Amino acid sequence: MMKLPSKDRLPRPTRRLATDHFGSGTGYARILLLLATTLAAAAAPKAAEFRAGTSAIKITPSKPIWMSGYGDRNHPSEGVLTDLWAKALAIEDKRGTRIVIVSTDLLGLTRSITDQVSARAQKQWNIDRANLLFNSSHTHTGPVIKSKMAMFELEPGDQAVVDEYTRDLVEKLYTAIGSAMADLEPATLRYSIGTAKFSVNRRQFTPNGVILGVQPDGPVDHGVPVLEVRKADGSLKTILFGYACHNTTLNHYKISGDYAGFAQIEVQKKYPGVNAMFLLLCGGDQNPNPRRSDALAMQHGASLASGVAAAVDGNAKQDLKGRLRAAFQFTDLAFRVHTREDFEKETKHASHFNRLRAKVMLAGYDNGHPVRTLAYPVQAIRLGDGPVVVALGGEVVIDYAIRARKEFQKEKLVVAGYSNDAACYIPSKRVLGEGGYEADFSMVYYGQPGPFADDVEERIFGTMRRVMRRIGAK
Ligand SMILES: [Zn+2]
Repeated sequence: MMKLPSKDRLPRPTRRLATDHFGSGTGYARILLLLATTLAAAAAPKAAEFRAGTSAIKITPSKPIWMSGYGDRNHPSEGVLTDLWAKALAIEDKRGTRIVIVSTDLLGLTRSITDQVSARAQKQWNIDRANLLFNSSHTHTGPVIKSKMAMFELEPGDQAVVDEYTRDLVEKLYTAIGSAMADLEPATLRYSIGTAKFSVNRRQFTPNGVILGVQPDGPVDHGVPVLEVRKADGSLKTILFGYACHNTTLNHYKISGDYAGFAQIEVQKKYPGVNAMFLLLCGGDQNPNPRRSDALAMQHGASLASGVAAAVDGNAKQDLKGRLRAAFQFTDLAFRVHTREDFEKETKHASHFNRLRAKVMLAGYDNGHPVRTLAYPVQAIRLGDGPVVVALGGEVVIDYAIRARKEFQKEKLVVAGYSNDAACYIPSKRVLGEGGYEADFSMVYYGQPGPFADDVEERIFGTMRRVMRRIGAK
């Protein structure tokens, strides 16, 4: 492939020429500069439709820290099985529009964190909030992060470790975005879809209601959307892949990225030099199956990496071109009606989680602002003529991905949950009606007042249609 003259070298002789022969500041100088720039653009290989940059920053806790995801843990972490990462992919189109996707091996990023980082990114690099997507793998073997409602009432020393980790994380996310932007270079994008079959619907129906188990007949999505980013010379730079499944193979005290962590490691082994990034899709009601050993987490990771490799090495791929577009909007999701008495009663509940939730809710009543709604983030990012990534906040169940693909059949949709906020589970109308963990009692752990009102799915789809219209979706 032809080697381009460096950006510095090309305009410089032109400038000298302009000064020597035509005098400085003349119209000729400007025309020549313009000509040089145009020639440089024309000389660029046709393949480089975009520019892309990528980064990876280690976010493994440096000391023992309380771990997130399971309420029955009773002490901090004991060692590290795999490192945790914050990774970023920046993409720029020919008009100079940039989007940045940030992946994290964490249970979830709170709104407070994504607000802080996006405000700084806006100020520093002029990235609009809509053009910045934060996603978390929802690993259940990662650190506790500071949030309004703690799963544990930590001792001051342990809380200080969590606070310090959270402050550090904000800096690292900001640095990851900056590093990806500083790395921008001519790039091509390719889209394909693989398959991995280890996720299973976990909403098991029993005579006593829905439990967290295995429901082989329940809806699943075994698709593995893959975005390949290649440098101008054709070599692989970044592979971003998604899957709709909880990172809950493991429940122990070693820090790890669970199956998604192992999948990233495997993909990077298979394609040396690549930055592998994981995007969690609508896995709210999906679990890996079977579970509960390091060997199984590795096995699921290898299975996901094989799905990615089959897509990368296969022929059914689309080379992307065109514009990047993004839209983002918060919508208010209403909770079912509650009263002060509900939570006064709950202060005497047998479970300490309920007592804690009651305390948070009563504080809302006390200050005159009982929690009635949740500000919910809905985002859509169009990658040229390729996929549209719809990014929804919270633990979104699979029904949303299935319905969104039906509603927007003309688009290649990738529907991600666990994006931009981690406020609670997001049940569909069906799941809300059936009840169970995702519909109802998970709200206690998240410090939310109770189930959503029945129109939660309609409100989210109403907002999804609005953001999709703004990126020109049909
Ligand atoms: Zn979860």
